[in-house]
Amino acid sequence: MIEAPTGIAVAVEPLVTRVLAPNPSPFTYTGTQTYLVGTTEIAVIDPGPDESVHLEALLAAIAGRPVVAILCTHTHRDHSPAAAPLRAATGAPIIGCAPLTLDDAGPRADAAFDTNYAPDRVLADGESVTGPDWTLTAIATPGHTSNHLAFALPEAGALFTGDHVMGWSTTVVAPPDGDMAAYMASLDKLMARDDRIYYPAHGDPIERPQRFVRGLMGHRKQREGQILRLLREEIGAVPAMVERMYVGLDPRLTGAAGRSVLAHLLDLRARGLVQGEGEAWKLAA
Ligand SMILES: [Zn+2]
Repeated sequence: MIEAPTGIAVAVEPLVTRVLAPNPSPFTYTGTQTYLVGTTEIAVIDPGPDESVHLEALLAAIAGRPVVAILCTHTHRDHSPAAAPLRAATGAPIIGCAPLTLDDAGPRADAAFDTNYAPDRVLADGESVTGPDWTLTAIATPGHTSNHLAFALPEAGALFTGDHVMGWSTTVVAPPDGDMAAYMASLDKLMARDDRIYYPAHGDPIERPQRFVRGLMGHRKQREGQILRLLREEIGAVPAMVERMYVGLDPRLTGAAGRSVLAHLLDLRARGLVQGEGEAWKLAA
């Protein structure tokens, strides 16, 4: 467990300050890390859960400096709900990922999503927001969620990776909104970059990003290989697969592991390697 000083502004490097939200859990590790970028004018990345103590901690860290933008990497409830109260307190616009549209909100969004998220401006892939000493460029990184953005800070060679790449655990890719093929393509996209460091929303900074991402891709390929082997043994129900694949897993994470296995199965089906649905899967004939 990393040192986790909840609510205290930690200067990570000249342009980057981190404030940890009070929401530790088996899904968030020590909690959501909100980042402040800039020295005289500030951008806030992933304001976090709507908890008054966290909002107070952010305002204390901002210390009266103008806030240019409130950016959200995606709309899970541990990332974006504080955007609205922070906008009310600072007057700053919410700029960043798209909301999941109402059409998508039916079958796609679940309780993990912040349905109240209402951005003032949505950034497309490659679009930027700037301050006096910083630029933040949106890098579309769908997979964990369909609306996920990472934000590059070229002045520091840093990338804020949200939940796409985390410093403590692999990312949950939960269908129907989560998509394994998109997630892998978004890892490929990061491999083509030369960032010096990643700042994830959960867990430690990642100092050798390319090597780390290569490891994540290898991990998913390994999972895929395990799934194909289990199907060869005619183990075709997701819970039985989880039991074999995730030995010693925290029982609270069994559901999330099952969603990730399903994400792999849907990807393998799209590639013509397996067939089935729900709880009954087999190798393609
Ligand atoms: Zn998330």
